[in-house]
Amino acid sequence: MKQLYVIGMGPGGGEQLTPQARQALEESAVLCGYTAYLELAREFQAGKELISTPMTRELERCRLALERAAAGQTTALICSGDAGVYGMAGPVLQLAEEFPEVDVEVIPGVTAALAGAALLGAPLIHDFAVISLSDLLTPWPVIQRRLDCAGAGDFVVCLYNPMSKKRRDHLRRACDILLKHRDGDTVCGWVKNIGRVGQEKRLLTLAELREEQVDMFTTVFIGSQSTREIAGRMVTPRGYEAKACAF
Ligand code: SAH
Repeated sequence: MKQLYVIGMGPGGGEQLTPQARQALEESAVLCGYTAYLELAREFQAGKELISTPMTRELERCRLALERAAAGQTTALICSGDAGVYGMAGPVLQLAEEFPEVDVEVIPGVTAALAGAALLGAPLIHDFAVISLSDLLTPWPVIQRRLDCAGAGDFVVCLYNPMSKKRRDHLRRACDILLKHRDGDTVCGWVKNIGRVGQEKRLLTLAELREEQVDMFTTVFIGSQSTREIAGRMVTPRGYEAKACAF
């Protein structure tokens, strides 16, 4: 069978790359990805053909990868984090209908939400919602409604794509929606460049987050009403204390 691997590299590659992803990268003759993500696979590049396409050419990248695999070369399509979280796994499987001879295997990776949560403490321990603030593929009113519903449901909210040069006020607008449901002193955090050079993190309140300038390499965490700061860590209680009281 002709093989295409769709690989989640983890947030920074290297230490956070799973052994399964490592093996698929080693088996592949062609590595295909957005230029910056190919960097994550630097140690696997020797002797392989590299195909990189710019950020906006996602479908072209998927098609190129499927074509290479169909031509008989085991190919790896590389995504950061997990390929099924705002990644290429969906579009590849849609296009793959045109390439029935290619076996597409999706290999999971550590998504930014999980790696970032571990750095901050344990913010996502209970129910949480992941929402992207990018309106390139989702209309802004839909994003607003999802934020509002997550706020009403008291979910911990994890935001991907919180800000870019063209969308400087999206984070502030998202905070305003959540402030309808939560206090300004709700515990929040952000983590930037997880697993990469320049990794940084900060704990702050929702009111402070509203004024914060972050960038597109940052993942943001907004606590639920029960999230607490404990010794500099962001922690959402699982609720064992309340259960103990009930007995
Ligand atoms: N497939 C990726 C997400 C791609 S969307 C994953 O599963 O992690 C791009 C967004 O992911 C960024 O805007 C940022 O919010 C988040 N992100 C990806 N890598 C990151 C990293 N190393 N550090 C912090 N945030 C990251």
